[in-house]
Amino acid sequence: MALPIADHWFDRKRIDDEITLLWELHVDPLLRCNIWHVRGRDRDALIDSGLGIASLKAAADDLLRKEVVAIATHVHYDHVGGLHEFENRVMHRIEAPVMEGSHARGGLYASDMAVEIADGLRKAGYEIPEALVTSVPKGFDPAEYRVTPTSVTRTVDEGDVIDLGDRHFEVLHLPGHSPGSIGLYEAATETLFSGDAVYDAPLLDELPESDIADYVRTMKRLLELPVRVVHAGHDASFDGERLRDLAGAYLARRDCYLPES
Ligand SMILES: [Zn+2]
Ligand SMILES: [Zn+2]
Repeated sequence: MALPIADHWFDRKRIDDEITLLWELHVDPLLRCNIWHVRGRDRDALIDSGLGIASLKAAADDLLRKEVVAIATHVHYDHVGGLHEFENRVMHRIEAPVMEGSHARGGLYASDMAVEIADGLRKAGYEIPEALVTSVPKGFDPAEYRVTPTSVTRTVDEGDVIDLGDRHFEVLHLPGHSPGSIGLYEAATETLFSGDAVYDAPLLDELPESDIADYVRTMKRLLELPVRVVHAGHDASFDGERLRDLAGAYLARRDCYLPES
């Protein structure tokens, strides 16, 4: 099946003076991750990097005027495809080794996706279209798609800080969706970049690397966190009240998975 040719791959939206959202226009919502650019005084943060189908660095060139710290909230292929393009690469210590290996389990066609990933998506209620991209850059063959492996230059864990000079994001280890999922939390503005730990759509906790008991603990933690706005790994941003609704709904459904202590 030949797909139409896309003439540009990324779109973007200015959220405020310092935050810009970028996304891949021709990717099915199921795999379309939010890419967040945060401008800092001394350096910028780039949170997640999409599938790596087209160059994010080239597309965001005008935004990236100084040192850039590229952070992956977790190692799923829709979040790390562009990571290799950046000089400073940050990921949780548990998932950094995975980034150095091949990502052969992902795919842009449903038929190329590992069965256990497809099962995890279906159990959460998602339908998987045969093609997860609706068009492609010229010369790109979706059947040949692979994430470019890369090493990270800094591994992080709970409590570490991403320092942009005037803005400081604390690393929250938020396992459940994946073992090394992180959020980036700025206490001064009560802003949370949550990755796939929480977003406003059915959450994935039955992927091969997911852990429901961990997810329950993560949601209990998020319920207590002072949050004004959540910029998530997928879908629209939301406020603290919505976060507490989502966490509460998850706990109502899954709390029974937590082993008695
Ligand atoms: Zn994910
Ligand atoms: Zn994702």
